[in-house]
Amino acid sequence: MTRLFAGTQWDRPPTCEVCGELEEQCRCPPPPRQYADPATQTARIAVEKRKGGKRVTVVRGLAAAENNLPELLTQLKNHCGAGGTVKEDELEIQGDQAAAVRRILEQLGYKVKG
Ligand SMILES: [Zn+2]
Repeated sequence: MTRLFAGTQWDRPPTCEVCGELEEQCRCPPPPRQYADPATQTARIAVEKRKGGKRVTVVRGLAAAENNLPELLTQLKNHCGAGGTVKEDELEIQGDQAAAVRRILEQLGYKVKG
């Protein structure tokens, strides 16, 4: 009986394309992450109230897998002079910062709604 995958790439354990080691043994650094073009993405900005009546500016629509959200948050915090957090695919900046956040995102090339 012949093996189903004999002679194909599936017949061998996977190896690293860079060093040629088996993937289990490969110590190459991971490839740099590829982020999506800001111009293809639309950010949605909302100002919401949290407990105690505090306002936060929430940015949605930018996927964590396609954007460097921690870096983006740092830029927004610096420009707004406010604290903030990343929550999965959302950015949250303290206070009503909608106008500033919109300006910054647009400068970075994002489309912005809201
Ligand atoms: Zn490698």
